[in-house]
Amino acid sequence: MSNTGVADNILDVEKIRKDFPILTQSVRGKPLIYLDNAATTHKPNAVIERVRKFDAEEYGTVRRGAYKLSETATQLYEEARQKVADFMGAEKKGEIVFTSGTTQSINLVAHSFGKRFINEGDEIIISNIEHHANTVPWQVLCEDRGARLKVIPVNDDGELVMEEYEKLLSPKTRMVAINHVSNALGTINPIKEITEKAHAVGAKVLVDGAQSTPHMKVNVQDIDCDFYTFSGHKMYGPSGIGGVYGKMDLWEEMPPYVTGGDMIMQVTLEKSTYAKPPARFEAGTPPITQVIGLGAAIDYLDEIGLDKIADYENSLLEYGTRLFKEIDGVRIIGNARHKASIISFYIDAAHPHDVVTLLDQDGIACRGGHHCAQPTMIRYGVPATTRASMAFYNKPEELDALAESVKKCIRFFS
Ligand code: PLP
Repeated sequence: MSNTGVADNILDVEKIRKDFPILTQSVRGKPLIYLDNAATTHKPNAVIERVRKFDAEEYGTVRRGAYKLSETATQLYEEARQKVADFMGAEKKGEIVFTSGTTQSINLVAHSFGKRFINEGDEIIISNIEHHANTVPWQVLCEDRGARLKVIPVNDDGELVMEEYEKLLSPKTRMVAINHVSNALGTINPIKEITEKAHAVGAKVLVDGAQSTPHMKVNVQDIDCDFYTFSGHKMYGPSGIGGVYGKMDLWEEMPPYVTGGDMIMQVTLEKSTYAKPPARFEAGTPPITQVIGLGAAIDYLDEIGLDKIADYENSLLEYGTRLFKEIDGVRIIGNARHKASIISFYIDAAHPHDVVTLLDQDGIACRGGHHCAQPTMIRYGVPATTRASMAFYNKPEELDALAESVKKCIRFFS
């Protein structure tokens, strides 16, 4: 244990940092301190090199060609799907549908599940602390189908009020769509309990896993959710790739969302029939290279171990929270008992956009804004927050530097 209290026997962070070439650079003459991992994460050499090798030596289209390059690419592509299935604890690899990321995944489910299962008078439940990606698609669906959107409130610490959730559930509830981890506050939601209660009234559950998959071990069979989404660029993999787990019996009943090549069984000029899942939901040429890169990112995370990552990041979170609580003039927004490594804070003296501009002068990359969670900002009475989101390559010394820079900011604006 170092004098910061952050456990230094869980991971060899200095060794891990050498895997990430981007972290060695200076910004404005200072060593880069990257604390915007909830927005997007950086890539280890293992991913960069795997993508380079694939593009240089193995690239081909998938699912079509009968020649060697295409066969190899198809095999690697399907191996990556298996890696994702294992990573998330899915029973079958075909339950994983590749998309461009969580946003497209939720739109896919809202459209397709909605077309098949949502009718006038039905109800969908979300929470007050969702990303817009898990809000707007359900609003649009409700408008289209004459359904009603209900919202679970949160308490002052950023936790879902579970008694209110229970009151919102009814036989009319068709879908409960909730994030596993809130990107704006860091709250870890009790999704297993949420799922159990939703299933008790016959509703299905979609978990937005954009912020959980990089930071904790997830098992979709244990949670028993019906859908679970993820984004590759938040998991140390490439951008433009992600996906959604869904239970096979549901996928089989759902109509396609995007149509065209590769998702059909047969096409005549009069009518088309559709392929079985997952192909039914993967029309067109997929982001092949990005899928291979995602597979390499999963190998990398598995090698380090998600349990160790979660333990180390919790330790960082505790240290950072302690530091921030000692700074006069800083208010932490989101103090849930169960949190992932996100500290969202507000300084009365300055707008977060100004705060992050000053932090940048010290080489510190933090996000200032509403984090695509405007209803959350409204709930806590702030226009925006400054957010430091940590990864396992961050060090306690970086949080010291952040705290000093924030103090400087408060002096500057006061
Ligand atoms: N859901 C949550 C909780 C997020 O944090 C994000 C991105 O920040 C998204 C959804 C959208 O993910 P993407 O932009 O990768 O589609």
